[in-house]
Amino acid sequence: MSHVSYDVIVIGLGGMGSAAAFHLADRGQRVLGLEKFTPAHDKGSSHGGSRIIRQSYFEDPAYVPLLLRSYELWDELRSMSGKEVHRITGGLFLGRESSVTFSGSLLASRQWSLPHEILDAAQVREAFPTFDPDPDEMALFEAAAGFARPELTVQAHLDLAENRGATLQFGETVLGWEEAGDGVTVTTDKGTYAAGQVVICPGAWAPQLLEQFAVPIVVERQVLHWFGASAGTAAYENNPIFIHEAADGMQDYGFPAIDGPDGGVKVAFFRKGIECTPDTIDRTVHPHEIEAMQSRVRQTVPGLDGPSVHSATCMYSNTPDEHFVIARHPDATNVTVACGFSGHGFKFVPVVGEILADLATTGTTAHPITLFDPRRLVTV
Ligand SMILES: Cc1cc2nc3c(=O)[nH]c(=O)nc-3n(C[C@H](O)[C@H](O)[C@H](O)COP(=O)(O)OP(=O)(O)OC[C@H]3O[C@@H](n4cnc5c(N)ncnc54)[C@H](O)[C@@H]3O)c2cc1C
Repeated sequence: MSHVSYDVIVIGLGGMGSAAAFHLADRGQRVLGLEKFTPAHDKGSSHGGSRIIRQSYFEDPAYVPLLLRSYELWDELRSMSGKEVHRITGGLFLGRESSVTFSGSLLASRQWSLPHEILDAAQVREAFPTFDPDPDEMALFEAAAGFARPELTVQAHLDLAENRGATLQFGETVLGWEEAGDGVTVTTDKGTYAAGQVVICPGAWAPQLLEQFAVPIVVERQVLHWFGASAGTAAYENNPIFIHEAADGMQDYGFPAIDGPDGGVKVAFFRKGIECTPDTIDRTVHPHEIEAMQSRVRQTVPGLDGPSVHSATCMYSNTPDEHFVIARHPDATNVTVACGFSGHGFKFVPVVGEILADLATTGTTAHPITLFDPRRLVTV
């Protein structure tokens, strides 16, 4: 047993855990962070160069107050770290008027008075000539949308946490944790540590690390594609991020490929995953997957279905209702849990760090998180 005593141990230093470690250390807590891989690695859910950030939240307007706080914290993180952790490009949310993407974005914008513009297909084509929506499609344009850069964000939070005195250990796998007296003991492949509180941010490893926690999480393999522009096509780099919902309800989304081919685009399907586990995920991207993506891109942003330059896999951790799990553990007083981010968590990373620091230090938070209560999902 290590003789150093900590206030809080953070298990998993990916998107959420790195933010929690920073916010806890910033409040003067003695923090130990434990991560099985390297800083800002590509084996979990927080890699691949870019993540959409937006406020007109079609998933549920209840997320908007958290997004408004997250945006403040994105700006703070950027100025504290000196890193371009996010960039505002504007965002186009395209689909038929009845699509979730368009109508849900409009609902959230109206409910929270978020600045937005509505464009018909011809107006989209005129303002953003790279796009070619169908005549019956509409778009909501949100000027505040853009993207975050996951690797830079994780590294910024880790650096700032260390600057504030956190001890961060990489290449160390947590094997288990248990309540002990008025605290918690954590055992790894290298040692045993004690702390008053533990914050568990396991990403796709939730089914393993939270075995006795009856929240059903399904892990899914997702694929990211980087395509170059076809000859003669204007570069995509100064375009907005987009989410497009086709008539079949399937959503695809894209960004300027900042870390890929010049003028190219990074695109993916939103929810077209294959169930997997972190141990069994197929990391090879197959030609038929590349072709399916190119043919979809051709419909929305013709000319950006150019050569496939790179592709990568990543994991979603889906809850049955696709809302997050953020709470004190229902059966373990000194344990806080953040998991099940269901493919849309990254834009919330800074505010989740703040919420986890609130929960670990005070047991409660002023942020609205009832939507994320695990008891809604627990099967008895
Ligand atoms: C392809 C793709 C596209 C996405 N696009 C968007 C988007 O555009 N916008 C958006 O908001 N969100 C998006 N998301 C979702 C978002 O990226 C995730 O919700 C978020 O990154 C989850 O963070 P996390 O901290 O839960 O997981 P992770 O970042 O994976 O962190 C979990 C960490 O725990 C560590 N760990 C696990 N087990 C152990 C152990 N036993 N011991 C020690 N360490 C351990 C892991 O190594 C890992 O580092 C996307 C996700 C993917 C995969």
